[in-house]
Amino acid sequence: MKDVVMTAEHTLEKLGLTAAELTGGSLEVRSPIDGRVLARVHETPVADMDAVFARATAAFKAWRTVPAPRRGELIRLLGEELRAAKEDLGALVSWEAGKITSEGLGEVQEMIDICDFALGLSRQLYGLTIASERPGHRMMETWHPAGPVGVISAFNFPVAVWSWNAALALVCGDPVIWKPSEKTPLTAMACQKIFEKAVARFGDAPEGLLQLLIGGADLGKALVASEAVPIISATGSTRMGRAVAPIVAQRFGKCILELGGNNAMIVGPSADLEMAVRAIVFSAVGTAGQRCTSLRRLIVHNSIRADLVARLKKAYAGLPIGDPLAEGTLVGPLVDEASGQAMEAALKAAEAEGGTVFGGKRVTDGVPEGGVYMQPAIVEMPGQTEIVKTETFAPILYVMGYDGFDEALEMQNDVPQGLSSCVFTLNMREAEQFLSPAGSDCGIANVNIGPSGAEIGGAFGGEKETGGGRESGSDAWKGYMRRQTNTVNYSAELPLAQGVKFDI
Ligand code: NAD
Repeated sequence: MKDVVMTAEHTLEKLGLTAAELTGGSLEVRSPIDGRVLARVHETPVADMDAVFARATAAFKAWRTVPAPRRGELIRLLGEELRAAKEDLGALVSWEAGKITSEGLGEVQEMIDICDFALGLSRQLYGLTIASERPGHRMMETWHPAGPVGVISAFNFPVAVWSWNAALALVCGDPVIWKPSEKTPLTAMACQKIFEKAVARFGDAPEGLLQLLIGGADLGKALVASEAVPIISATGSTRMGRAVAPIVAQRFGKCILELGGNNAMIVGPSADLEMAVRAIVFSAVGTAGQRCTSLRRLIVHNSIRADLVARLKKAYAGLPIGDPLAEGTLVGPLVDEASGQAMEAALKAAEAEGGTVFGGKRVTDGVPEGGVYMQPAIVEMPGQTEIVKTETFAPILYVMGYDGFDEALEMQNDVPQGLSSCVFTLNMREAEQFLSPAGSDCGIANVNIGPSGAEIGGAFGGEKETGGGRESGSDAWKGYMRRQTNTVNYSAELPLAQGVKFDI
C-alpha cells in the first residue's frame, strides 16, 4: 500500500497543502483504505474563536453590500477552480473518506453543479410584490443577507455538503465558517486552497469569507453557541442535531439540520425486478452503505419476495470489495473500526430480533491490510423490529414482506427518520398514492429510482429526526437570507390597515 500513500502525498502537494500544514499537529488523519496516517494537522484552538467570529462579522459587513451577481462571479470562479482540481480532490476524497474513484469524482462534480446553480441564482434572489389594501401604497418583500453561516459537516460527504451550503450562502451575501468532520480535515483544507485561488482571481473580496475550524465537537459547540453566527447548517447524526438545535433555538438563531436517515424502498408486485435489483444494490451498498440516503429497508410484496431476495443474494455474492481506488471495486471500506463494530453489533441484534443474516462478514483476503472491509449484508426480518428502526451507518439491508399497499406505506413511515424513500411499481395508483399527502412522509420520495444519488436542482433534506432542513436546489437559498416586508406609501394620505381610525 506504499504506492497509495505516496500518491496521496503527491495529491496533497498538488492541491497546495504544505508539509508544515500536514505535520506536527495533534489531529491524526487516517485513511480508511489501510488505516495509515496521512497527516497530523493542527487543530484550531477554541481560544481563537472570538477572532474567527470578528473576522466573519467584518467580512459580512463588506460582502453584503457587493451586488449579488458580482458575488455570483466568485462562485463562477470557484466552479472553474473545482473543474481544474476535480481529479485530485476526487482522489483525496477516496483516500480520506474511502469512496470508490467514481464516487469521489462524483462528489466533486456535485460541487461544480451547485456552483453553476448558485451562479444563476445570484441573479434570481426574487421577492414578491404584494397588492396593498391601502390606496397609494405598494408592498413588496426583499431578501437580504443574513450574516455569517456556520457549516458543520459529516465525514461521508466531506466536501459536497460544504459546497451546497457555501455556494448558496456566498451568493446570498453570507460569509462561511466551516467545521468539517474531524475524520476528514484534509479535503476541507484542500477546498480552502481551491477557494483561495478563486478569491485571488476575483480581486476585491473581503478577507475572511471562508474560515476553517479544524478539530472536534468542541469547536462545533463553540460555533453553535455564538450569537455572531445567526445561521447554523449542521449535517451529521441525529444525536449531534439533538445537541445543536436547542442551543441555536435558545439564542433565536436559525438551524438547517440534515441528520440521519433510514430510507426504504417498497417493491410492488408489478415492479420491473431487474431495474429494482440494480437500484437496490447501488443504493444499499454504494459508499459501503455510508450515505445518509443509503437504502436500509426493503419492503417487498410477499408474492415476489423470495424471487427478489434470491436475485439480490446472487448480485451481492459477486460484489467486488476492496481498495476503492482499484479499478472495478464497487464496495470500499467502512470509515473506521468503530463503524465495523457497529455493523457487527447491529447484525447480532437483528438475529436476536428474529432476523436471518446473509453476508455481513469481515473481508480480509484481497483487500488492503489495515482497513475495515465488510461484506454487505441482507437481513430477512420477521417484521420492522427495533434494530430496523435504527440507522446503522453500514451496508445492512433489512427485508420485510407485505400483502397490502397501505400496510407497506405504514411500515415505510413507521420509523423516526424521514429523509428519502421510493417505490418500484408499474401500477399508477400505487405510484401516485406513494407521492400523495397520505403517502411517503419523507423529504424525498421517488418512483422507479432508488433513494440515493440526488441531483442538486431539487431541495435536499428530510422530516422528523432528519431535522427538517432543506439545502441545495429549489428555494433552499431562502434559508440563508432574511426576509423583509416593505410597504411604501406614495400618496399624501396616511390610511391605516384594517380601517383602523386614529385621528389626532
Ligand atoms: P457526527 O454526528 O458524528 O458528526 C458530524 C459533525 O458534527 C462533525 O463535524 C462533528 O465534529 C460535529 N459534532 C458532533 N457533536 C457536535 C456537537 N455537540 N456540537 C457541534 N458539532 C458537533 O456524524 P458522522 O458520523 O460524521 O456522519 C454520519 C451521520 O451523518 C449519519 O447519521 C448520516 O445519516 C448523517 N448525514 C446526514 C446527511 C443529510 O443530509 N441528512 C448527510 C450526510 C450525513
